[in-house]
Amino acid sequence: MTQLSENLQKLDGFLARFRETGILNQIGGEALPAASGNWFDTLSPTDGSVICQVARGAADDIDRAAAAAKAAFPGWRDLGGTERRKILHRVADAIVARAEEIALCEAWDSGQPLRFMSKAALRGAENFRFFADKAPSARDGKALPSGGLMNITGRVPIGPVGVITPWNTPFMLSTWKIAPALAAGCTIVHKPAEFSPLTARLLVEMAEEAGLPKGVWNLVNGMGEEAGKALTEHPAIKAIAFVGESRTGSQIMAQGAASLKRVHFELGGKNPVIVFADSDLERALDAAVFMIYSLNGERCTSSSRLLIEQGIAEEFEARLAERANKVKIGHPLDPATEIGPLIHPTHLDKVCSYFDIAKEEGAVIAAGGERPDGPGWFVRPTLFTGANNQMRIAQEEIFGPVLTALRFADEAEALQIANDTDYGLTAYLWTSDVTRAMRMTERLEAGMIWVNSENVRHLPTPFGGVKASGIGRDGGDWSFEFFMEQKHIGFATGPNKVPRLGGE
Ligand code: NAD
Repeated sequence: MTQLSENLQKLDGFLARFRETGILNQIGGEALPAASGNWFDTLSPTDGSVICQVARGAADDIDRAAAAAKAAFPGWRDLGGTERRKILHRVADAIVARAEEIALCEAWDSGQPLRFMSKAALRGAENFRFFADKAPSARDGKALPSGGLMNITGRVPIGPVGVITPWNTPFMLSTWKIAPALAAGCTIVHKPAEFSPLTARLLVEMAEEAGLPKGVWNLVNGMGEEAGKALTEHPAIKAIAFVGESRTGSQIMAQGAASLKRVHFELGGKNPVIVFADSDLERALDAAVFMIYSLNGERCTSSSRLLIEQGIAEEFEARLAERANKVKIGHPLDPATEIGPLIHPTHLDKVCSYFDIAKEEGAVIAAGGERPDGPGWFVRPTLFTGANNQMRIAQEEIFGPVLTALRFADEAEALQIANDTDYGLTAYLWTSDVTRAMRMTERLEAGMIWVNSENVRHLPTPFGGVKASGIGRDGGDWSFEFFMEQKHIGFATGPNKVPRLGGE
């Protein structure tokens, strides 16, 4: 039996119960169908088959979930950080114990290769552990004594919050938002992406089995314009943590305006990887290939623009095209697969539409630019060369395994091209000149920059983008800044004279 057929057999076992019951919402500790009785299908990107049905929640379900989160809030807030820490560690233990189930379901539901989803499942557990350990100190503040006053600051959880997540690496991204919210003492309503809902269901089940009180974590599946919109408008929901497209972020901001919703946005990107001739070109090549073709290129931090110094451009681009042609396309549950199918047919059409756009704009398709034969929403790793930064292929987030190469003459031009975009999530810089690296990192318009490295996430550091790539930061204490309110309390330390109005 091959590893692939063994994995398919295991997956079949894991999915059997979902085929029977469908994916239910979880509200106040109860597994429920949508109030309307409506369902939608979730499809496998590998062959387009129906995996199972999913409860199609809408405003009524959000209303019940928000009420459950509101009712559970005082108890969870007042439980104490050490108790929260214990429960969140138990959630992490459950994730580790069921990591294979999570990875197989995620790969089948999202099309992301198992080799990456296995790691992503364990990263989800790390997210829970990291924030679990921060729970006891989440409310800590400062003493700032001044003349006649002892000023004390503290933090309190903001209340029930909404978490809205996208379909790319949905499990990991959900843990990334939910773990800090729970550690801070917030209760939540989670609306996962309609295209990959399987693992959000597994996650909430694991959390309740780990002892999370009922109603602390509620799950409502459904469409963005229905369940998602209702969540962002609900008055009991105090904040929305959102990961998704920039355009959706601006819709959510408008939808949440009437209830003065606090928002945290992790949005799109068109991230440059800038390679100078003086860099370690072997490692730079590995990183450029990895950061666009891993995770099917459906990755907010992918380096989708290669900025390459003129003198080495021709050879670097040729080697890149050769490597792109060798990236292994295949079944996402096959451990050898490096690139799987894209999430859904509409997204496939969008990604493929850039092949014609590139030709119309006068760029060259140096690798890929087509779909392999057979079923599934696969696309070949693609490289566009001969492009300039005004082209749509250099400006628009394609969100697939598609790289646009641009050449630059010197540092000033590299900076100008890198910053000439609406986005500002990440930038990657390859050079052996540390002074240049210092200069450039100062001026690059990006929330996160890696020098001589691919994207390696360290959880205590701030994660987030500038410009159209986001508002706010995650990670370390920054997550608590969002999920908590700062409080100031001033105690008089003596009979300070109070200015008197209306006296004698
Ligand atoms: P999307 O914006 O289409 O959907 C994201 C989520 O928002 C889904 O759950 C969807 O149902 C919901 N939604 C859609 N319309 C809504 C509305 N009007 N109100 C409330 N909710 C609504 O994004 P996507 O296509 O699922 O994900 C891909 C995008 O996510 C890319 O742009 C990618 O760059 C971005 N992303 C960013 C980060 C980051 O950290 N910056 C991480 C991952 C993905």
